[in-house]
Amino acid sequence: MTKLHLPTPASGGIPEQAAGGVLHIDLDALASNWRTLRDHAGGAETAAVVKANAYGTGIEKAVPALSKAGCRTFFVAHLSEAIRARTVAPDATVYVLNGLFSGTGPTYAQFDLRPVLGSIEEIEEWAGFCRAQGEKLNAAIHVDTGMNRLGLTVAQGLTLKDRGELKDFETALLMSHFVSAEESDNPLNRQQIEAFEAIRASLPGIPASLPNSSGIFLRDKPQYALVRPGYALYGGNPTPDQDNPMRPVVGLEARIVQLRWVEADDTVGYNGRWLASAKRRIATISVGYADGYPRAASARGRSGDDLLAGTALVAGQRCSFAGNVSMDLITIDVTDVPEGRVKRGDTVTLIGGELTVDEVGRRAGTIGYEILTGLGSRYARTYSGGQC
Ligand SMILES: *Cc1c(COP(=O)(O)O)cnc(C)c1O
Repeated sequence: MTKLHLPTPASGGIPEQAAGGVLHIDLDALASNWRTLRDHAGGAETAAVVKANAYGTGIEKAVPALSKAGCRTFFVAHLSEAIRARTVAPDATVYVLNGLFSGTGPTYAQFDLRPVLGSIEEIEEWAGFCRAQGEKLNAAIHVDTGMNRLGLTVAQGLTLKDRGELKDFETALLMSHFVSAEESDNPLNRQQIEAFEAIRASLPGIPASLPNSSGIFLRDKPQYALVRPGYALYGGNPTPDQDNPMRPVVGLEARIVQLRWVEADDTVGYNGRWLASAKRRIATISVGYADGYPRAASARGRSGDDLLAGTALVAGQRCSFAGNVSMDLITIDVTDVPEGRVKRGDTVTLIGGELTVDEVGRRAGTIGYEILTGLGSRYARTYSGGQC
């Protein structure tokens, strides 16, 4: 019996030949996107939001690449992500967006991390911890100006200046978060800016931060000390009603494991939800919903109909999915690709080229953010660039 020798990737991850799909992450494009955002930030410090494993791209790769580009401040959602970021960025400022859980103060202090405090209780706990430590440690305060999700209410924000606890720690940042910044003419943007301005005015001297990716591109907004882009760094379009100013960062390819012809009136996939209206050629690829490709991208209907469903580039041609997305497989109608141009073992593109993360999201009834952050753990990951 011959032994299978697979080259082990430098990352220690899954070898390409052994994976169903290969994820390409372009760290130079990531760095270039950070610089583009910085150039649009009007002099504000440009941080990077690297929560959810840097939107699926890998904290351990993305954070060093962004640091080399000049980024000094990172935001994550969880304390565990913050420790990962700290490990690869020893000198950076790292904020934890989801707030302070009781009893975690010592971990924040140990790793020099900053909580984003979003309630009076969290402010009291952080102040108490700092008093006990005898040290004014840094934190951000988050005021909710419209999301009704996380942060102090606007009323609480306006009375913050009277709270004694503010003397016990260093408020390094006062922040809020846009509800719909990607809708540039949504009146909520202006209302949130105004509410935030009122709170800012009551707490002079504290650096302020409001814009996410899309917020950076809103016109007529005040100058802020710091902006917090996430999605746009990873190639998502922060200006959906205009051309995407960002470079694509993520590419996804999958291998064809089988090709077959089906006859008119044959169905394809679980529950027979796709029907061939004539003889069709089907390619089966080795990626499925267990890899984070949404089942909602399934193609249900008849071949040839204009279905809002997942699409792949096969030999450079757009081909629609056929039938339900399975756990580990997707079936694609490749009839329109000349027969000799597609064979077993070929790769098809699921993200990349003209297939943007935004379109992939739309075709699955979701947003590109969910596509990126769902990118699965079974892919072979290949990285390029990241040296400057
Ligand atoms: C996720 C997040 C961001 C980044 O938002 P994008 O739309 O991805 O740029 C910024 N600020 C907060 C509070 C967030 O939760």
